[in-house]
Amino acid sequence: MSRNAIYPGSFDPISNGHIDIINRALNIFDNLVIAVLNNSEKKSWFSVEERINMIKSIYGNNKNVQVKSFDGLLVSFMEKENLNIAIRGLRAVSDYEYELQLSLFNNQLSNGKCETIFLPASRENLYLSSTVIKEIAINKGKLEEYVDKLVLNKIEEKAKIKRGEKL
Ligand code: ADP
Repeated sequence: MSRNAIYPGSFDPISNGHIDIINRALNIFDNLVIAVLNNSEKKSWFSVEERINMIKSIYGNNKNVQVKSFDGLLVSFMEKENLNIAIRGLRAVSDYEYELQLSLFNNQLSNGKCETIFLPASRENLYLSSTVIKEIAINKGKLEEYVDKLVLNKIEEKAKIKRGEKL
């Protein structure tokens, strides 16, 4: 039987921190569903389609990775997809409380079916977040160290739009 897991998140945009978690999860699981949260578009820089396309540009050729979107409760989506294990990355202490709360509620809401597996962020990604990436991008900073080269251009183009340099 193959071992499958889901990695849910906003991925607005996908960072090297996410990529590290995905690659390490693929060492443990046979298949991984990357589930992009379809949250209020107002808050995110990228539409769900844009976020999915960026992830697909990196993992599109990997037959063990599927990229999907979901809204509503994660546990409902997991039930629909027949998945029991959610992967989450843990960065500095600040992630801990929120992630613990989320994992406890997901377990309860799914009547004990959903388990969360935490992978610690690698040292170099410990303080990396999509928010920081957007902050660097809007201020024209160098992004090479933080995102995959396949999505770099998309982020820089979006930053131009955000700065009002491009319609
Ligand atoms: P963010 O919190 O940056 O908006 P997401 O909601 O997309 O990111 O996060 C999805 C999951 O990936 C969460 O479990 C989050 O803790 C984890 N994650 C985000 N950035 C990193 C990173 N730099 N290293 C490890 N895990 C991360």
